[in-house]
Amino acid sequence: MKEELKRKISPQILDPKDESEDDIVLNISLRPRRLSEFVGQKEIVENLKICLDAARQRKEPLEHLLLSGPPGLGKTSLAHIIAHQMGSKITATSGPAIEKAGDLIGILTNLEKGDILFIDEIHRLSKVVEEFLYPAMEDFKIDFVIDKGPYAKTIKFNLKPFTLVGATTRTGLLAAPLRGRFGIFYHLDFYLIEDLSKIIRHSAKTLGMNIDEEASLEIARRARGTPRIANRLLRRIRDYAQVRKINKINLEMAATTLDELGIDKAGLDDIDRKVLRAIIEIYNGGPVGAESLAATLNEEADTIVDAIEPYLLKAGYIKRTSRGRLATKIAFDHLGHKYIQEKQEELFK
Ligand code: ADP
Repeated sequence: MKEELKRKISPQILDPKDESEDDIVLNISLRPRRLSEFVGQKEIVENLKICLDAARQRKEPLEHLLLSGPPGLGKTSLAHIIAHQMGSKITATSGPAIEKAGDLIGILTNLEKGDILFIDEIHRLSKVVEEFLYPAMEDFKIDFVIDKGPYAKTIKFNLKPFTLVGATTRTGLLAAPLRGRFGIFYHLDFYLIEDLSKIIRHSAKTLGMNIDEEASLEIARRARGTPRIANRLLRRIRDYAQVRKINKINLEMAATTLDELGIDKAGLDDIDRKVLRAIIEIYNGGPVGAESLAATLNEEADTIVDAIEPYLLKAGYIKRTSRGRLATKIAFDHLGHKYIQEKQEELFK
């Protein structure tokens, strides 16, 4: 059992972090380009529309904006949409890509008034770079020191007013002073089945696929509330349909293909089941910390915390307590294990 669990987790078809296929299907992009094409997240869309209209009327850049939420829910898409709607240029980078403050100087000094600087995984910026960003965000100024010792000189540089759009899967890891410098915050949540189904039908149309509504709903039900996964499942089904010369995708074809891909009726894949099985079979239902779980599964704790766990929590398979993760009755039932009621309930207290 342990050996089987140790098989490497990634890459997996349900990995919401894997962006490799997002934009490169025969040069056809499935990314929404404007706010009106962005499905779901109604409150965010409505609020953002007002902020964008107000900024445009005042001919001012939008306030710095922080987008949080699990991977694959549309943070990058929103950043591009904001740039598009503001008629401005977007420079996209990520926390780990900016190694030194010097990397950031180049980026910041090249920004024009109203430009968007998108920093993905902003919680992974180094402390030094982060502190360098504070005056840039607040006063559109940067100070940098050249030379060392007695020859050291501080050069002040005025920047053009820009908008920083930060994206993070974990707001908790963001330093308070950085968080405090954002004016607008949006947390993206998992999508409703109906919204995912709409995204799937729209993507199918873009890809020239013929799919009926029941099939798109079935894919939506198994897409872990995540548009990126919904689109990926659709593309896999497209491959199967093409090879098997099926012109119209109906419920049966979609369901059979998803079964073949190892995605069960609840939308969990091999890896999710492995995580649940490890908690139940190796840790007796929990509690278990992310680090121990990661070590058992031979995986990075970050992958578990960022990409696998959020949906399992949301769908009620696991609970987080101060002592670690616990499997719920839903998880025991899903894997066909007998629920150890008294023990688990005692732990949930
Ligand atoms: P994140 O930055 O949160 O990881 P992305 O913005 O890269 O997510 O979204 C991944 C993919 O999912 C996009 O390329 C797009 O195809 C699809 N997508 C995400 N959100 C939406 C949405 N609201 N409407 C339509 N498609 C979406």
